[in-house]
Amino acid sequence: MPTTHAILAPSASKRWMTCPPSARLEAQVPSKETAYTKEGTIAHSMAETLLRICLEQKGQLVEDFVDKFQIAYNATQGTGKMAPLYQELATHVHQAQDEQLDPWEMMATVLNYYCRPVFDDYLAAIGEDPDAILLVEQQLKLSEYIPEGFGSSDAVIIWGSTLAVYDLKYGKGVKVSAKNNTQMKCYALGAILGPGELYDLAQIRMTIIQPRLQWISTDESTYWDILKWATEELRPAAVLAYQGGGDFVPGEHCRFCNVAPRCKALAAKASQLNASRGDTALMTNEEIAEALINAQQLKSWLTGLEAYALEKALEGQTFPGFKVVEGRSVRQISDQAAAMQTLEDAGFDEASYCKPKELKTISDLEKLLKKKGFQELLGQYVIKPQGKPALVEESDPRPAMNSASSAAEEFKDIQ
Ligand code: SF4
Repeated sequence: MPTTHAILAPSASKRWMTCPPSARLEAQVPSKETAYTKEGTIAHSMAETLLRICLEQKGQLVEDFVDKFQIAYNATQGTGKMAPLYQELATHVHQAQDEQLDPWEMMATVLNYYCRPVFDDYLAAIGEDPDAILLVEQQLKLSEYIPEGFGSSDAVIIWGSTLAVYDLKYGKGVKVSAKNNTQMKCYALGAILGPGELYDLAQIRMTIIQPRLQWISTDESTYWDILKWATEELRPAAVLAYQGGGDFVPGEHCRFCNVAPRCKALAAKASQLNASRGDTALMTNEEIAEALINAQQLKSWLTGLEAYALEKALEGQTFPGFKVVEGRSVRQISDQAAAMQTLEDAGFDEASYCKPKELKTISDLEKLLKKKGFQELLGQYVIKPQGKPALVEESDPRPAMNSASSAAEEFKDIQ
């Protein structure tokens, strides 16, 4: 899996197309590897190897593949007694273990919710066109439309006159829609210009798969619409961003911008409450709604700003009027077993000094029993209490609670 990044990466295309100067600014800040990016890299490598194994054996992997592989791995401790692709998979298991991740849970997740659907699509494509191809971790050249642009698509399937691109997102933060998604359009463009060049293409399909959210989102387009978009929108925005031109435009896309904590345009937008507008001393509901939207940005910008300033202060930078101190510390028992023994020896009843036994979380129990076992053994005890009311933006996919009076009534019960 490639690790170098383009200045104008497809994954950040929404950002640099909307806020062109962000690309050059971000390029000045070294991107940091976090626990999440390491986890994502290992999950992608695992998914890539699993898809290659499917291709090698020309079919889906057996249902209990992960259990069987775990037994084989434990028997050899991943020490070179397996076929090359299986050895590669063992390396990813090692990498996950080194990062204190559960490799078997990761493998089962990417296999069942990413590799299987992609490979099923490939098998269906072969059913329609025996010459269908599946390309795994396909390198894409985008420099014709994006200066120095390149990227890679996790999977590309081409059959008949259709080209499908797939993007695996291992994070479990927010569901990402493929609808009109510029990153996916870039991947489709790269695949059209690369392996797709040899085909007479008409339909384009773009799919995002988020295994841990069990979320699959697909958008469809045509060959000509992708090229038209690339010529009329992508290329002009990319050239402007490459030159460092254009205006700073803060918005939703600032969320993963590396320079967000220090960005003046975002700071100005986030702290703008429009409080002086209108002729009333108190804010109207419309003004409150506007301020609530800004409040989301303000909160996330402030969190990023505080984290950035602390990190830099720990590196030795100074911020006038601030100093680094030790945070509040909570007393702890250094040896729980010894403390319990001492209390027992002193004649105390266990119930008086131990907390009552508590079941692990539902996710932990699902890990222990696997989804099917969990359902069989504990399904009858699972309830889902009504959630607390929350005021969210109209665009939120959850349905609105019925009416003001019933929402207040239901909330009373929850309280
Ligand atoms: S934080 Fe937002 S406004 Fe500022 S450079 Fe990044 S994308 Fe542009």
